[in-house]
Amino acid sequence: MGKCNMQKTVDFIKETFKTNEFIPLHEPRFIGNEKKYLNDCIDSTFVSSVGKYVDTFEKEFAKIVGSKFAIATVNGTAALHISLLLAGVKRDDEVITQPLTFIATSNAISYLGAKPIFIDVDLDTMGLSPKSLKNFLETNCEVKENICINKTTGKTIKACVPMHTFGHPCKIEEIKKICDIWNIILVEDAAESLGSFYKNKHTGTFGKIGAFSFNGNKIITSGGGGVIVTDDEVLAKRAKHITTTAKIPHPYEYVHDEIAYNYRLPNINAALLVAQLEQLERFLVSKRELATKYKEFFSNLDINFIEEPKDSKSNYWLQAILLNDINQRNEFLEFSNKNGVMTRPIWRLMNELEMFKNCQKDDLKNAKYLEERVVNIPSSVIL
Ligand SMILES: *Cc1c(COP(=O)(O)O)cnc(C)c1O
Repeated sequence: MGKCNMQKTVDFIKETFKTNEFIPLHEPRFIGNEKKYLNDCIDSTFVSSVGKYVDTFEKEFAKIVGSKFAIATVNGTAALHISLLLAGVKRDDEVITQPLTFIATSNAISYLGAKPIFIDVDLDTMGLSPKSLKNFLETNCEVKENICINKTTGKTIKACVPMHTFGHPCKIEEIKKICDIWNIILVEDAAESLGSFYKNKHTGTFGKIGAFSFNGNKIITSGGGGVIVTDDEVLAKRAKHITTTAKIPHPYEYVHDEIAYNYRLPNINAALLVAQLEQLERFLVSKRELATKYKEFFSNLDINFIEEPKDSKSNYWLQAILLNDINQRNEFLEFSNKNGVMTRPIWRLMNELEMFKNCQKDDLKNAKYLEERVVNIPSSVIL
């Protein structure tokens, strides 16, 4: 990239964010009704897991993504955990996912005693590759009595969890078709993709179940929080039941009908979230404007800015560039972070982590390529 272009990039980012102070990768913005709703929530004393903001949020969220039901949870990892449990994933099952993702995806699979299988991503979407998925299944698997069996391990492949990396939708329609043929349940990790659409349908609504996150660095935040979406009423009811300790509704008695989880989103977090949801459109406009600016700037320097893939509309949650090789990447990370602009490499591949190094995988050629080259650059909403 050269020292001169690195300096130009740092200057451009400071100019764009209108500051000479340290620029973080992604800061939340509280510019709407956040304080008002939080005060109202405190005054009501309903700060815990029952309250009107949880209900309002669930209704509004379902409307926005176009799903029939939404069930709020304490965080996105919990949403994924319960989504996989509802998909029927059990101990010793296998779940296909991508190695290029945040750790939560593989953690959630592991909580159920299941094992991830890592399949390669596409270069244009950075999400699970339908071609690689199909190839893996045709080479290694067979369907017997409606169950997808991995011939190498003899185990059942129960679910598949693609992820929409940085908000860029993966080829989810093709992935769904393949999963249907192979009797694999599709669960979407849409943690990063609120406001992202594939062919005008919201991400997270293609599979049987989808999970979103509202962690502090996501496009909107409740401090910590998550949500499960589904069109299946039975699953939705079950999601609510097992995230609220499986308590049988009763005015004063505590009776529970199974071992379950305390995963409900507190009303005080939901109050913040309802206010944030009101700002979503504005945030999306700002992020798209920033992407346009970055694209123009980087094209003049002959550096690859990562744009939304074909057939999709991205939320541009985290902006990213693709550098030439790992040396250039390291140079740029070093220079920018030293000069007050926070940048970050894409995740270390899951199969390289100690806990997952023995998991089955394909060649992961594209994932490796991206791992060595993709860098996230400041992406906060500019006021
Ligand atoms: C943020 C995120 C999650 C969920 O994270 P929480 O911090 O538990 O809300 C899951 N998957 C991916 C890909 C994420 O980026």
